[in-house]
Amino acid sequence: MKKVVSVVVSVYNEQKALQAFYQETSRILQTLTWDYELIFVNDGSVDDSLSVLKDFARQNEKVKLISFSRNFGHEAAMIAGLDYAVGDCIICMDADLQHPPEYIPKILEKMEEGFQVINMVRTKNDSAGWLKSITSVGFYKVINALSDVKFENNASDFFAVDAQAAAVLRQDYREKVRFLRGFVQNIGFRKTTIEFEARARVAGESKYNIKKLFTFSMNTIMCFSNMPLKLGIYAGIFSAILGFLMMLYTIYSWIQVGTPSGYATIVVLLCFMFAVLFLIVGIIGEYIAILFTELKGRPIYIVGETCNIKGKTQNKQEEKIE
Ligand code: UDP
Ligand code: MG
Repeated sequence: MKKVVSVVVSVYNEQKALQAFYQETSRILQTLTWDYELIFVNDGSVDDSLSVLKDFARQNEKVKLISFSRNFGHEAAMIAGLDYAVGDCIICMDADLQHPPEYIPKILEKMEEGFQVINMVRTKNDSAGWLKSITSVGFYKVINALSDVKFENNASDFFAVDAQAAAVLRQDYREKVRFLRGFVQNIGFRKTTIEFEARARVAGESKYNIKKLFTFSMNTIMCFSNMPLKLGIYAGIFSAILGFLMMLYTIYSWIQVGTPSGYATIVVLLCFMFAVLFLIVGIIGEYIAILFTELKGRPIYIVGETCNIKGKTQNKQEEKIE
């Protein structure tokens, strides 16, 4: 029997890009020796993406559609794709052709060689501005310095996993605050990377603004590192040393010139100390917020409707039992 490749594509307001994406990708998928399913996850688009996708699904039964009840975010869409995919190899990619579909045959070659996790690494990014490029480099430096696990620089949300690795992601990584790319790189298995040149977006615009990226980066750091929590201990030690030195200085100047005045010193120190204190309280608060989100256990995504998906797939039932 032919092996099956599942291509998972997250779609949020991509009406302008979809036609080009579908044409190019399905042309490549048809040339493969593998059978395929093309899973589009509509992440609550508010433009015409859904009707475009329904058209594709009507024309081709290998096109499957999962449509969320609202926008749940890119990662939730990829997770839904993993949940519903039945392939021996699952490839996640963006709908804007920034992740070139011509790499699909190369990915499958690697799979046939026995690799189970394939990370696609960007060598060049045509559409990212300088600010995005610099912050991306900075982000990977910080996260690699802070966390125990190591991250590939410039890894993207373009990756492929085999059925075994997908099962692990599906069952054991249902975190609500997460960094899917980080999980993919750290579940182990036989893994390799393929370099690719990111193309410019075919149409439409990026949905990630700097604010979103900042929140995303902060969450990622907190998910993969407890280091920020230890800042409190370091700040405590630092303040103790500072306090001790100030005490020595105060005694010295009291002996020399009598009771010191030092209004300015007190005000500056107070402000400084409160700043450190509140910062640490804030960091603890962020961790508590993550705990709270996990504890509530709300769904990662809610499916509104599906096309060409027969019944509830096996994968979904597993999630129910959980
Ligand atoms: N996307 C999504 N939900 C969102 C935001 C984005 O499914 O809330 C999809 C989007 O349609 C695209 C992919 O995620 O296929 C990557 O988004 P985008 O191209 O905006 O990000 P960038 O490539 O600029 O980092
Ligand atoms: Mg993009």
